Amino acid sequence: MKENTCAACDCELDATRIAVKIGGRTVEVCCEECAVALREAEAAARASDISDK
Ligand SMILES: [Zn+2]
Repeated sequence: MKENTCAACDCELDATRIAVKIGGRTVEVCCEECAVALREAEAAARASDISDK
């Protein structure tokens, strides 16, 4: 399984990749902006998940 693309925008990752922990697993994104976007998306998903139960 290849994971050489940004988890947020699907850009190819290079040396400036950033590792972000999302819900217990680590994903890599291309820049800080994508890291923030991913964290916010995960937080929103988790919030809706909790209110579901
Ligand atoms: Zn990106």
